[in-house]
Amino acid sequence: MSTTAEVPIAITCPPWCGGDHLIDRDDGTHVADRGVWHNSAIVDTWTGVHADGPDPIVVRVQGYRHDNPDHPEGPDLSQWHDEVVVDGDVYPGFMSSVQLPAVDARRLGRALIAAADILEAQS
Ligand SMILES: [Zn+2]
Repeated sequence: MSTTAEVPIAITCPPWCGGDHLIDRDDGTHVADRGVWHNSAIVDTWTGVHADGPDPIVVRVQGYRHDNPDHPEGPDLSQWHDEVVVDGDVYPGFMSSVQLPAVDARRLGRALIAAADILEAQS
């Protein structure tokens, strides 16, 4: 019986990456779409004043790097843009949109600008 050893694929991080990765290389993923999600350190996180769930607001930078940069369906699919991401309870009680009291809206605004600065300075 013989086995074939897989050669690990290196993870090459963008300059802003904080080392938080989601590796998307399992057998259920189309080969051309395999790669790694990179996350920056959290720019800001807090619990909104009207939060009604367990998820704090989290602002960070996120980007995807395909294992194969030459996606067979074209450059648009191989060059996903790095973006500022907001997760959490930005509209308590609902699944999408943003509706916040002034104190949280101001904090979110400052965090978005800080995250955009990180992205623009290190891209
Ligand atoms: Zn990384």
